[in-house]
Amino acid sequence: MAAQGTVFGAMLQEFEGAAKILNLDKGLWKMLTHPKRQITVSCPVQLDNGEIEVFTGYRVQYNVTLGPAKGGIRYHPGVTLDEVTALAAWMTWKCAVAQLPFGGGKGGVICDPTKMSRRELEALTRRYTAEIIDAIGPDKDVPAPDVNTNAQVMAWFSDTYSMHVGHTSTAVVTGKPIEMGGSLGRREATGRGVMIAARESARHLGFDLKGATVAVQGYGNVGAIAAELLAAQGASVVGVSDVNGGVYNARGLDMAALAAHVAQHQTVREFAGGDPLATDELFGLDVDILIPAALENQITAENASRIRARLLVEGANGPTTPAAHRALHDRGVFIVPDILANAGGVTVSYFEWVQNRHGYFWSERDVNERLEAKMVQAFDAVLQTAQRHQVDMRTAAYIVAISRVATVTKMRGMYA
Ligand code: GLU
Repeated sequence: MAAQGTVFGAMLQEFEGAAKILNLDKGLWKMLTHPKRQITVSCPVQLDNGEIEVFTGYRVQYNVTLGPAKGGIRYHPGVTLDEVTALAAWMTWKCAVAQLPFGGGKGGVICDPTKMSRRELEALTRRYTAEIIDAIGPDKDVPAPDVNTNAQVMAWFSDTYSMHVGHTSTAVVTGKPIEMGGSLGRREATGRGVMIAARESARHLGFDLKGATVAVQGYGNVGAIAAELLAAQGASVVGVSDVNGGVYNARGLDMAALAAHVAQHQTVREFAGGDPLATDELFGLDVDILIPAALENQITAENASRIRARLLVEGANGPTTPAAHRALHDRGVFIVPDILANAGGVTVSYFEWVQNRHGYFWSERDVNERLEAKMVQAFDAVLQTAQRHQVDMRTAAYIVAISRVATVTKMRGMYA
């Protein structure tokens, strides 16, 4: 079993809280806390300087009871098998909470994409795809973007797979460019889902999004879109940060000007429309809503005491450690857990997969309306469960997810 302090260990602690309340059968408990398959591959790549580097990559298929494994691929120097396994488990629960016909998977490659050329990234992506090719496919395992990967990386992934199987396969991966089978609204979907989760929470807690103050950690695909959509709802985004630094403006940041700055400099740092903010100051801002949208383990027992927000919406996967979660919950902070709050991305990935398999594409309005309905439905199911069992939203989301996966596991029975 995972050691204390690991990312998978944190996932297990969260699981345990819900499994106890469900009085989960011992055998099911064991089945749902072991990854189905963990693949480790070595990917040799010739760098631009002529040298050969070998990158380690992982693909974990945590559970495929409800359907093909589903989950992103991240490129990051800090990737570990423990982390990818936890992320694959979270995908399993996320898909179950959102009622998608998918299991959970995740991939990762240990590399620093900020120091690699486009050609090197393409070579790495193609070799990684080739190394895991037997394990993936529209009915087996469907990857998507995650930290430091995007539509272009998915295009290379889809092309490599298609060349191997001998025909164009769009449904093998989601988050593709629109021109090659991507879904309208997919790029914005995770951030849009975060906005919907924040809006539903504010309604539940009885405060207006209009005029509510927001701080966002991480200004990538999730954080930036969530911030922009919340601002469009009338909220005031006062602080944002990324790996390079942050910016603060008590009167609210000008979102269009900030977007232009980020497009030019690839960071929010030194944006002229506010004062510099040290990355570790962001959590202490006096705001209504805090959105961690970077990596896991950001909100810890050490810094949780500085948090003043009343609503925490987890755009990232696993941003809050179990100890920090307990401390914040005890102080009355309403926490929308990752497996609910950021489910918008994989929900529209599901829509993309459906469109690819039908060969018929929906309008952006259709996509957004269906996403809205799915997110509200998932939010209501978790909130009702929280109220019924008198538990926090994370435990409630796990109760919903585990119940759904456990029911089907029992129905399917044991093979051999
Ligand atoms: N990487 C995203 C997540 O963590 C999306 C996964 C997907 O669309 O399959 O939820």
